[in-house]
Amino acid sequence: MNTRGSVSQTIEAIAVIGAGTMGHGIAQVAAASGFRVVLYDIDRDSLARGIRSIEKNLAKGIQLGKVTEYDSERTLQQIHGTNTLEHCADVDLVIEAAPENLNLKQEILRKLEVATDRPFIFASNTSSLSITEIARASKRSDRVIGMHFFNPVHIMKLVELVVGEETSQEVVETVTEVGRRMRKEPILVKDVPGFASSRLGVALGLEAMRMLEQGVASARDIDTAMELGYNHPMGPLKLTDLVGLDVRLNIAEYLHRELGTETFRPPEVLRRMVSEGKLGKKSGIGFYDWTADQKDTRRAQST
Ligand code: NAD
Repeated sequence: MNTRGSVSQTIEAIAVIGAGTMGHGIAQVAAASGFRVVLYDIDRDSLARGIRSIEKNLAKGIQLGKVTEYDSERTLQQIHGTNTLEHCADVDLVIEAAPENLNLKQEILRKLEVATDRPFIFASNTSSLSITEIARASKRSDRVIGMHFFNPVHIMKLVELVVGEETSQEVVETVTEVGRRMRKEPILVKDVPGFASSRLGVALGLEAMRMLEQGVASARDIDTAMELGYNHPMGPLKLTDLVGLDVRLNIAEYLHRELGTETFRPPEVLRRMVSEGKLGKKSGIGFYDWTADQKDTRRAQST
């Protein structure tokens, strides 16, 4: 909706691709903001898990007095979950939150363009991949942009809009308005590896892992150093558990390749934990044990 004389396009329906950690949160926030949402995941169980997470978030919101029963009901009604990509054909904006893999994201974009002639905007939630590269798979590269949300999406205020070489001003303005309607604070960032936030955030997380490897301090104490010493709301290792160690490993490998600095070489502990399936909160174990209480970090793992 254009309220300021901009050339932005009206967005009514949004498809979210991937119902994982980020996708379910994006779908929830979009639906709560009044958009019609199609939530697509290739995997049946992941879709069901994503919808359950939305229901849980909303129930918690009601408990805390932040969401009314009516709004919760309305939000859920706005979301149509599906395992069929073609159900995403009838939307104005696609927000892609599939795994961090360039070929996969490009393949999704190509398939969507085959499924519909609609000139949808394609916004990738990638944490680090080049938007310009993703857009090379598109027939309409001016309609591809980065829309980088933060975890947990229904709580974090920032959305980093990543402007590719070909992204049009209309698309920037449209997605800025969508971000504001979702009650997020959009920032505009050039399409460089790691954008603004990931580059700094990942550097901190990897250094914390190296400190853990070297026995400088426990996971909990490293996190406490940043929480109490620097007023970070959450330490870098706990944050890695929330992001997912596999997601972080992918980003670190990519930044190491692209920027060529040792800062981004993935530490051994990260590779080992990912190969052991210790992916953080989503798998129950990461730098902390999340199995006892999903809301708390009772016991730091010694690595
Ligand atoms: P995730 O692994 O939790 O979820 C990915 C989902 O995509 C899964 O449910 C999976 O079944 C589904 N999927 C796999 N292949 C698919 C396909 N071809 N089509 C549709 N769905 C498919 O991952 P995530 O943490 O939600 O990350 C998604 C994206 O968001 C990545 O690009 C990541 O870099 C980015 N991101 C993640 C975080 C975070 O904190 N986890 C933060 C910001 C951005």
